Amino acid sequence: MNPTLSQDLLTFLKHSPTCFHAVAEMASALTAHGFTELSETEKWNLTPGSRHFLTRNGSSLIAFAIPSSGIHSFRILASHSDSPTFKIKENPEIAVENKYVKLNVEGYGGMLCAPWFDRPLSVAGRVIVKENGAFTAKLVNLDRDLLMIPNLAIHMNREANNGYQYNHQRDMLPLYGDITAKDTFLKQVAEAAHVLPEDILGHDLFLYNRQPGTIWGASGEFLSSSRLDDLQCAFASLQGFLQGEKQESLAVHCVFDNEEVGSSTRQGAASTFLYDTLTRIHESLGLTPEDYRIHLAKSLMISADNAHAVHPNYPDKADPVNRPVLNGGIVLKYNANQRYCTDGISAAMFKDLCRQADVPVQVFTNRSDIPGGSTLGNISNTQVALNTIDIGLPQLAMHSPYETAGVKDTEYLVRAAKEFFH
Ligand code: ZN
Repeated sequence: MNPTLSQDLLTFLKHSPTCFHAVAEMASALTAHGFTELSETEKWNLTPGSRHFLTRNGSSLIAFAIPSSGIHSFRILASHSDSPTFKIKENPEIAVENKYVKLNVEGYGGMLCAPWFDRPLSVAGRVIVKENGAFTAKLVNLDRDLLMIPNLAIHMNREANNGYQYNHQRDMLPLYGDITAKDTFLKQVAEAAHVLPEDILGHDLFLYNRQPGTIWGASGEFLSSSRLDDLQCAFASLQGFLQGEKQESLAVHCVFDNEEVGSSTRQGAASTFLYDTLTRIHESLGLTPEDYRIHLAKSLMISADNAHAVHPNYPDKADPVNRPVLNGGIVLKYNANQRYCTDGISAAMFKDLCRQADVPVQVFTNRSDIPGGSTLGNISNTQVALNTIDIGLPQLAMHSPYETAGVKDTEYLVRAAKEFFH
């Protein structure tokens, strides 16, 4: 096992409080490894043997390496950059009793609400300013304990431990300051972004949990942090992509935004981002539309999005037979109704790959009476249809702002991804 990998993952998570930051982190790692950035607004002049990446909306990223011998097929590994959180609304400040200022927020994705209470929170995202006649996005992270959503005391809600339905508009608004904080929030954002408040023309700002990630357990076998779903997969995929030799197939590492809200956005898995990129690569290399379709028919995609491990307090929630555990290896996800793409053929290909990489695999299926979630694979296939397998790393507390996974599983995915791109 690589002793520094878990620390590297925690550093990546710390530097990635939002999807915009995660994409920027991956872009700088790719640049450091000799990948050059392309723009969707400019003409591409690609050559065999070259390595590039591009982003869309600053929140989705596709990196690819063209084999020196030309393209014969694709190997695509996909994950997602976004996580459930709360977004700061326009005109966010609300004065209470003329004594407090709280912020108006709305939910992004399907989060567990309870763990957002009684812990320091902060704000990160991007602001849009106009510089030299062009709109420019600036990443911003207030990076200090700034906000708190205080619980209501048990004395004022005696039913609190008997099940509680959280109302996003009433229950989830974070306290920002006393009344002297009125009209200062966007000034603080502007200061952190090194711009003037009046120059901010737009913003996409989100809450994040300040509690740093940690490695814990009797032998340090567990790892907890915000955003493990799905940045653990995005991180491990990128490591495997960078380490793999990428000699035979067009190697593609892609990370989509907006998986948590259904993927049907300009930069989500249901968008044309992947299709546009693959067809533009073909056009730039002088290949034909038929070449693209032949290559696609010979290709394989891995959709990597975290999976549910058996919960120690709720073992009855898992399928009676297929019971993934933390540190048990990569999880193959199956669903008869095709919320997951895995079928006999793609499972066989992936199991063979993991055997070659000496990586253990386990299986997830929902209990037949509990409908599960969906993910990237089947959605992406509506634009780019190819043999696809859905996998993930086992975790607990999915969609909490503090999730738990196994330290060994990150390395298993790095090894499998490296083998995939070999
Ligand atoms: Zn996910």
